[in-house]
Amino acid sequence: MNQPESATPAEPLDFLVVGAGFAGMYALIQARRRGWSVLGLEAATGVGGVWFWNRYPGARCDVESLDYSYSFDEDLQQEWVWSERYATQPEIRRYAEHVAERFDLHRDLRFGARVVRATFDEASVLWTLETDGGEVFRARYVMFATGSLSTPNVPPIPGLETFAGRMLLTAQWPEEEVDFSGRRVGVVGTGSSGIQAIPIIAEAAERLTVFQRTPNFSVPVLNRDLPPEQLEEEKRNYAHRRTVSRASGGGSMHQAYPRAFEEIDDAERRAAFEAGWATGGVLFSKVFPNQMTDPVVNAAAAEFAAEKIRSIVTDPRTAEDLVPTDHPIGTKRICTDSGYYATFNRDNVELVNLRREPITEITSWGVKTTTGSYELDVLVLATGFDALTGSLTRVDLRGPRGDVLAESWADGPQTLVGLLVPGFPNLFIPHGPGSPSVFANMVMGAEHQVDWVLDLVEHARARGHTMVEARRDAAAAWTRHVDDVANGTLFPQAASWYSGANIEGKAASFMPYLGGLKGYIDRCSEVRDADYAGVVFSS
Ligand code: FAD
Repeated sequence: MNQPESATPAEPLDFLVVGAGFAGMYALIQARRRGWSVLGLEAATGVGGVWFWNRYPGARCDVESLDYSYSFDEDLQQEWVWSERYATQPEIRRYAEHVAERFDLHRDLRFGARVVRATFDEASVLWTLETDGGEVFRARYVMFATGSLSTPNVPPIPGLETFAGRMLLTAQWPEEEVDFSGRRVGVVGTGSSGIQAIPIIAEAAERLTVFQRTPNFSVPVLNRDLPPEQLEEEKRNYAHRRTVSRASGGGSMHQAYPRAFEEIDDAERRAAFEAGWATGGVLFSKVFPNQMTDPVVNAAAAEFAAEKIRSIVTDPRTAEDLVPTDHPIGTKRICTDSGYYATFNRDNVELVNLRREPITEITSWGVKTTTGSYELDVLVLATGFDALTGSLTRVDLRGPRGDVLAESWADGPQTLVGLLVPGFPNLFIPHGPGSPSVFANMVMGAEHQVDWVLDLVEHARARGHTMVEARRDAAAAWTRHVDDVANGTLFPQAASWYSGANIEGKAASFMPYLGGLKGYIDRCSEVRDADYAGVVFSS
């Protein structure tokens, strides 16, 4: 059933999908292929999810283009031409738009439609969704493909609203190019977005002041063009590449160093780290398989990275300020950059260590710290996201028996395999807390999770059931398992957005599943093969 863009469907749909990022678009394509009536509701004015919103200078994917792309359609993966090893935001957005056009998604998508309320009625077995524009939609099944990193976090800095210059949020960057020339620019935040944007802003700005609360490790991305011959060669082996990636921990071809850290001498360890550094990017956290579980191996990796920072940054005090000391390397996502540390050697760039001189207030003219005053024309906030749960808890989501999602998750989220939430029948949350989400190639992860959900619904329908819901004890058991796996690693030692530490008042719980993509796929298959153990079917 096709929905014309203008009309609100009178009859309930089979399936409403909220969000048109990679997960939502894939859900629309596959549900439609199964003959379901579908509609997608998207707050943005276009497809692409984070790649629609995060248009800040330097935005680039840290997973190789050949991996960070759909695998379900052979023609698509063969025909699309990636120009670089790691794609930029504009190229990924073009790819998303191409997919939407190729699969004719626009006819089933409503843009500018932010879902603010969702309630389930048990008598009619229907979800009712309301948008901020007052439109109402009903469907038997609902997928909130609303993203892990789609609710920007603006920290409560006193006086922020009084700033009279231009304020920009990396996560809601304007469409038009921002001209920094002749401007005094401040960047608050040195996570992935800040670290990608800072080198580019520094080149254009008259002066750049970087306000850093917590230093993060960053590894050069070492991007390069993908020449046509290499692309052709890679594409000939695509099936193999995808098979290996699905059987991996992170959804890529990455292989750890073949010998154990404990078995090799210092020189070989160094060479292994050097090779990992030269591979580029986030995978530096996986040079040795036990790097994220063994503090000794991790400390060696951290020391190697610290030496790199010291060897690049010429001012020793600035270099020390840039070396992270408060978390094991990799327990906060390793950033990937193009010239980040070298930027601090520029005459027009200054690092302000907020641990030494915290911000006291933002004024009309700039930033005041305990010991300094910084006049600014432009203030860039690269201050992260209310990750993993923020986009779900901001919706007034109500189940049939009084459950309100934001309340149910007040002490931390509970899910069954990251996809179902007890108390909320016929509702699915790809990349939800309890799934690998940000720890594996998220396009590949979305394909697996969406397929698993659609299979579950077909399984229910084939047996005459109209409702599927996670059992509370099963969700509690899965969440304990997610905790146990995390507690076997060094990750809980960091105050990171993985565990909600960046958001005031958010419950501390390590949310992503660290069992790896393959491990997760296997666990989901076990649930399915046990007749969806932990799922209640009813009519
Ligand atoms: P999203 O892409 O987040 O899409 C969710 C969509 O839902 C958005 O369009 C949003 O507008 C919409 N939405 C949310 N709430 C509502 C609502 N209430 N009503 C209607 N619409 C709503 N992952 C990697 O693997 N590698 C990377 O290098 C990488 N880089 C990233 C860089 C940035 C700056 C960010 C923010 C994320 C990055 N990610 C990266 C993670 C990224 O989240 C995933 O790769 C992927 O884009 C997730 O797709 P998704 O469809 O699940 O969610």
